[in-house]
Amino acid sequence: MSNKYQDQIDAFMESMKARGAHEVEFLQAVEEVAETVIPFIAEHPKYEEHNILERIVEPERTFIFRVPWMDDNGKARINRGYRVQFNSAIGPYKGGLRFHPSVNLSILKFLGFEQIFKNSLTTLPMGGGKGGADFDPKGKSDSEIMRFCQSFMTELSKFIGPNTDVPAGDIGVGGREIGFMFGQYKRIRNEFTGVLTGKGENWGGSLVRPEATGYGAIYFIQNMLERIGDNIRGKSIAISGSGNVAQFAIEKILQLGGKVLSVSDSSGYIFAPDGIHSEHLDFLKDLKNVKRGRIDEMAKAYPDMEFYEGERSWNVPTNVDIAVPCATQNELNEEDAKKLIDKGISVVGEGANMPCTPEAIEQLYEHKIIFAPGKAANAGGVATSGLEMSQNSLRLSWSREEVDDRLKAIMKDIHHQCVKFGRSDDGHVDYVKGANLAGFVKVADAMIDQGIV
Ligand code: NDP
Repeated sequence: MSNKYQDQIDAFMESMKARGAHEVEFLQAVEEVAETVIPFIAEHPKYEEHNILERIVEPERTFIFRVPWMDDNGKARINRGYRVQFNSAIGPYKGGLRFHPSVNLSILKFLGFEQIFKNSLTTLPMGGGKGGADFDPKGKSDSEIMRFCQSFMTELSKFIGPNTDVPAGDIGVGGREIGFMFGQYKRIRNEFTGVLTGKGENWGGSLVRPEATGYGAIYFIQNMLERIGDNIRGKSIAISGSGNVAQFAIEKILQLGGKVLSVSDSSGYIFAPDGIHSEHLDFLKDLKNVKRGRIDEMAKAYPDMEFYEGERSWNVPTNVDIAVPCATQNELNEEDAKKLIDKGISVVGEGANMPCTPEAIEQLYEHKIIFAPGKAANAGGVATSGLEMSQNSLRLSWSREEVDDRLKAIMKDIHHQCVKFGRSDDGHVDYVKGANLAGFVKVADAMIDQGIV
């Protein structure tokens, strides 16, 4: 994106690279924010005077620790655990835990950095953090998962607490893992507190938390469409991923009358020419959450569906109105964006964190595709985690309708903030700019109020 502040942005990015050129995902996330925030700071010098940008890109604290555990054959295994406590200006650190073999400090810093802005957008008092381990849950028994989670929490418990840092799930960490970690925290500290979110319904979890990221992303897309007098009904939608976010994005799309063309996992994608219906979604949930199988099983169970090994959902052989990437970072590149543009796409909403590469976003902007960045579109998950924290503090449980209504209201408010900060004179809304600036201002003002800490 051309920018009259490009020299300043380049100089800032050079200084970032000098401190950690190998942290490519983190640098990518910082650059996207710098592109919109540096011009804003130029017009609002108080942020320059307080050196806020330089301060906000440095995590307040980072922990790296050994996670030893024993596999089912009695062999000692070792993984590396992390927690990045990025920014606590507006509340306790809050952000998920990711268990995936690709996890490293760069990925967790990018996720923790994005989380600062996302959490600020939710209007709830939550700072930014992220953590996880380079542990691969695939192919592990429940007992191995439990032993790993217990060992991970034995170390993590030293750094977190309901008023300090409240982790949740992310890739590879769902209800099962949160349960094992909560159990271990409780055992070590002898405290039943809201130290994790995404807990089970019977032991402090909020209704609608499992659904919240996927539902929230679709509510956000619905808000963007309503702004231009349109809606989701009848739209053909390509989804990637088949985990928590993808499953509940599909559920909400079906409720709103959209047609879901695809789902995927890391082995390939499924094309459903007649759409994925609720019966298929039940099959998918059982396959992924209970049997923990691979996505090609869907094509075996439903002969009208096709499995494309090693390919991404963006190759679907038909027209697409909306794409919702819900798997992982950098899963939709420039080529994919061009293919989607050729297929007639008009909206891309990021269910995952940073799934579109900068080159892909550039293509979408050039072709005036409405684009929602993950820090706005997938904020429903952490927002509902915030609601779980409130219920835990109050020792109350709100009804499904109450939580869902609050989630809808928060997504509407995030959309409103993005429009306020991202609308240009011709009426076009740059949602990336809107999300970055709205998220930045609240945190930056709090940092100024709290002095140099
Ligand atoms: P899950 O572990 O439930 O599902 C992840 C899905 O993405 C799986 O289908 C997985 O396939 C696929 N995937 C993961 N890594 C890769 C990869 N390297 N290449 C291809 N496919 C991959 O995770 P979630 O649904 O919770 O998270 C998905 C995304 O949404 C992530 O970016 C996460 O950070 C983001 N997010 C999640 C929130 C939440 O509340 N859960 C909140 C906000 C954002 P496979 O099984 O083959 O690995």
